[in-house]
Amino acid sequence: MKFNIITIFPDLITQYCSESILKRAQENKLIEINSINLRDFTEDKHKSVDDTPYGGGPGMVMKPEPIYKALKSIDAIPFRKVDGLTKIKKVFNGSLKKKKRTFLLSPRGKQFNQEMAEKFSKLDEITFVSGRYEGVDQRVVDHMVDEEISIGPYVLAGGELGALVIIEAVSRLVPGMLGNPASLDEETFGLRQPVASSKQQSETQKEYSQYTKPANFKGWKVPDVLLSGDHRRVEEWRKKQF
Ligand code: SAM
Repeated sequence: MKFNIITIFPDLITQYCSESILKRAQENKLIEINSINLRDFTEDKHKSVDDTPYGGGPGMVMKPEPIYKALKSIDAIPFRKVDGLTKIKKVFNGSLKKKKRTFLLSPRGKQFNQEMAEKFSKLDEITFVSGRYEGVDQRVVDHMVDEEISIGPYVLAGGELGALVIIEAVSRLVPGMLGNPASLDEETFGLRQPVASSKQQSETQKEYSQYTKPANFKGWKVPDVLLSGDHRRVEEWRKKQF
C-alpha cells in the first residue's frame, strides 16, 4: 500500500515515519510513504505556494497550480475529474485498475473514524494534500480530490498531523503489520467481531482494562481475577467491563 503526502513540510512526515511500526512496515515493504515537497512544483524564484484571497479577508490561500502539478506528477487526480483525453489514455494503459483515493485534509471535511480506516486499508494508494495558512483554493476541492477529510472538530495549523494520524490508523490494519494480528480483534472501535453491525460496533466497543507486572504497585493492586489463572473467569470479567 502506498501513501503520498503533498506538503510544504515534507520532513515532518519523513521524521515521524522513520520510527517504530511505520519504519518497520516500510523496511518490510508492507507500505510505502512518499512525502512530496509542494515547492518543487512552483515556478517563481520564491517558490510561492500561496497568495491573497479574492474578495479580501485575512491570511493567505494556497494556490491551485502547484497542487495540480504535484497531483498530476503522481497520477493522483481522481479519474472522474481528469480531462477527456487523459481518461481515454488511462483506460488503454490500465492505470485504472489501482484502487486509489485522493483527499484534502480540512477541518470542514468528513470526520475520519475506525470504520473509514478499515475501508482505506483495502486500497492500493492514498494521496493526501496537506493545507496550511487560511486554507486551500476551492478549485482543488472541486476538481482535484475525491473529498475533504478531517481528523476532528478543531482547527490545526496544517494537514500534516492529520495525514500522519490517518496513515498510522490505516497502516495498523494492513495484513502483516502487527506482530499478533489477534490484538486487532478486541480493540476499542474494533470491527472484526461478527456480533453487531459495523456501525453499532464502532460506536460501542471499548477494550477492557489492561494490567502488567508488578501485581502490587504502591498498594494499587491488579484485580484478583486476573491472577487466578482461570481463563473463563478472566474472559467474563473482561466482557463485563463495558
Ligand atoms: N481557515 C480554515 C477553516 O476555518 O476551515 C482552517 C485552515 S487551517 C489553519 C490550515 C490547514 O490545516 C487546513 O487547510 C487543513 O489542511 C489543515 N487542518 C486544520 N485542521 C484540520 C483538521 N481538523 N483536520 C484535518 N486537517 C486540518
